[in-house]
Amino acid sequence: MKIIMLGAPGAGKGTQAKMIADKYHVPHISTGDIFRANIKNGTELGMEAKKYMDQGLLVPDELTVKILLDRVAKDDCQNGYVLDGFPRTIPQAQVLDKALEEIDDKIDFAINVDVPDENIIKRMGGRRACLSCGATYHVEHIPPKKEGICDACGKELVLRDDDKPETVGNRLDVYHKQTQPLIDFYSAKGILKTVDGTADMKDVFAAIVSILG
Ligand code: ADP
Ligand code: AMP
Repeated sequence: MKIIMLGAPGAGKGTQAKMIADKYHVPHISTGDIFRANIKNGTELGMEAKKYMDQGLLVPDELTVKILLDRVAKDDCQNGYVLDGFPRTIPQAQVLDKALEEIDDKIDFAINVDVPDENIIKRMGGRRACLSCGATYHVEHIPPKKEGICDACGKELVLRDDDKPETVGNRLDVYHKQTQPLIDFYSAKGILKTVDGTADMKDVFAAIVSILG
């Protein structure tokens, strides 16, 4: 099963993608996590990506597409995957489609996690991320057991630089201009499914499971 998660930054794509990955035994692939891991390890790719991420801009398609295509070519993707944060532009979606067509394959579902901008702004300020294992929490809605510490790996939780209020507005603008057109793109293919992302995370997941079967 090959699934794409769509939605504004902070809509809950990552939260749901991890639950989907667990239940359906497919890898969770987040281009944002891949970039953050590269930044942490000081790679050339990481340094290049950081310039854009810190401003709330998208990393150029050439860089992003390459890392994604390399990742989905790995053995663990044979039975599918859940993509979180990719594609974020129409050209990215077209490249992915073409790569899949070449192996006589296609995306099964594009799940749009729908959350209005007002809720997004509140959520982003409360998001806490573990840069070590990629887990995310929310100070009010999904708090860790011990404040500031990751339940999964015990490392420190941080407010991501790009979740600071001055950057969130930019990210939402970028989302509306460059990523939202994907909703029509996948709707035209008949694989778009929209869920109400303002509900409790368990209810959002139940709605997704009823779509995926
Ligand atoms: P995205 O991957 O779309 O950027 P995340 O999954 O990281 O978003 O979620 C953004 C923030 O909102 C996180 O702090 C997360 O814990 C919280 N969150 C996710 N789903 C819900 C929900 N259904 N209700 C309330 N908060 C949520
Ligand atoms: P995320 O963790 O998905 O919120 O992504 C964090 C940041 O990484 C984004 O704001 C972009 O700067 C960059 N990024 C992640 N995925 C992509 C993508 N598919 N295309 C371009 N930039 C991306």
